Amino acid sequence: MPRIEQPRHDDKSSLSAEKRSLFVLIRSVADAGGMDFTHFDTAIDKLPRRRVGFYPTPFHAVPNLSAAYGINLFLKREDLAGPSAISGSKMRLAEFILGRAIEDGVTHVITQGAYLTNSGLQFAAACLSARITPILVLTRNVSRQGELREFRGNYLLNKTMGVETHVINVTGNEWHSPKEAARITDAIAVRKAELEAQGHKVLVVGTGGAHPDGFIAHALTFREMLEQSDAAGVELDYVYHTIGTGTALPGMLAAKLSLGHPVKFRSISIQRVNDEDRMNAGVIVERTKAVLATLGAPVPDDATIRAEIDIDQRFIGEDYAVASPESTAAIRELARAEGVFVGPVYTGKGLAGLLDHARSRRIPAGSNVAFLHTGDTGNLFEIPQVVGHIAD
Ligand SMILES: *Cc1c(COP(=O)(O)O)cnc(C)c1O
Repeated sequence: MPRIEQPRHDDKSSLSAEKRSLFVLIRSVADAGGMDFTHFDTAIDKLPRRRVGFYPTPFHAVPNLSAAYGINLFLKREDLAGPSAISGSKMRLAEFILGRAIEDGVTHVITQGAYLTNSGLQFAAACLSARITPILVLTRNVSRQGELREFRGNYLLNKTMGVETHVINVTGNEWHSPKEAARITDAIAVRKAELEAQGHKVLVVGTGGAHPDGFIAHALTFREMLEQSDAAGVELDYVYHTIGTGTALPGMLAAKLSLGHPVKFRSISIQRVNDEDRMNAGVIVERTKAVLATLGAPVPDDATIRAEIDIDQRFIGEDYAVASPESTAAIRELARAEGVFVGPVYTGKGLAGLLDHARSRRIPAGSNVAFLHTGDTGNLFEIPQVVGHIAD
C-alpha cells in the first residue's frame, strides 16, 4: 500500500494556527472519553466567584534550566495571580470561597496557619477587596523560629494591610499534635462566638484555605495549562507541584480525569502525608471525587484516582518552614539561570524535588514538564532559620 499524504489544509483551514491546534486538542480530549471544554466551563461558570486575581496566570518556558537538565521545563505562575506582586495558589481558592460567602452575607473570615502563611496573606488580601474583615489565627513554632520579635515576610505584609492577627506560640508541629491543634480550634471558636454575639456572620476557613467551596478552583489551573502548553506546541507529560494541605491537587486531578488527558502529576511534599497524618492520599481522593461531581463528570472508583497520586516525601528536610540545603540550592539555581524566584517554605522544596527527578531520570530526557509555581516569595524575606543562607 502506498503511503497517502493527507491534504495539508482540511476544512479547518480558515482557523488560525493557534485555534487549529486547540481544536485538535479538544478533539483528542473528547476522543479519549473525556468531557469537552464547553461542559467543563459551563459547570464552573455556574459557581459563585468573587474575582480578585489576574487570570489566566502566565505560562512560560525556562530554556536555560531546561538545557541544563535535558527536559522542556515550563513554569505556571500562580505566584503572579495578584492582586499584589506576592501572590500564590490560594488566591484561586479565595475567589470561589468568598463568592459563596458574599452570597451568604458573611462579614468576617477567620482562617489559620503558621505565622508565615501564604494562604492567610492571600485570603486577607481577597477579603479586604471584598470588604470582608479577615482575621488570622496563627501559630509560631518557637522551638524552631524563636519568639516573634519583628515583622518580616508575609507577616509584615499582613500587618501592613491592618489585619487582625492572633499568634499562638507552639513548640511542635500542630499538624501532627492533636493537643496543639485543639488550642487553635479553641481560639477560633472564642473569637467567632464574640463576633456572632455582636451580630456578625463568620466563616471559618481551614489551614491552607481548605474549604469544600474552593477545591474546584485548580481545575481551572490545569485547564489554563492545557491551552497554554498547546499554544506553545507541546503536550505536557508531567506537572510537578509542591503539596501541603492538599488544596491544589484535587482540582487539577479532577480536570485531568474529566478531560481525559494523559498527563502525570507529581507532588513534592513539605509535610508528612502518610495514612495516619491529617493530610493523606485518602483526603485527596475524597476531594477529587467531590470536584468531579461538581463538574458533572463521571466519578471513577477510588483505586483509579489513587493510582494518579504520586507523592515524594524526601524533600521535607528537617521540618516544615525550616530551610533545607536542597531547597536553598534550587532557589539559587532558578534565580541564577532565569531570574525567577521560588520561596523557601514550599516552592524551593518542590523545585528541589523536580530537579532531583530530572537528574536521576525519573523524568525521562526530553519530557515536557510544567512546574506549578504556587508562590511563597514573601517568605524569602523571613528569618534565616526559614530562608537559609541563599545569598552567599
Ligand atoms: C499552600 C501552598 C502549597 C501547598 O499546596 P496545597 O494545595 O495546600 O497542597 C504549595 N506552595 C505554596 C506556595 C503554598 O502556599
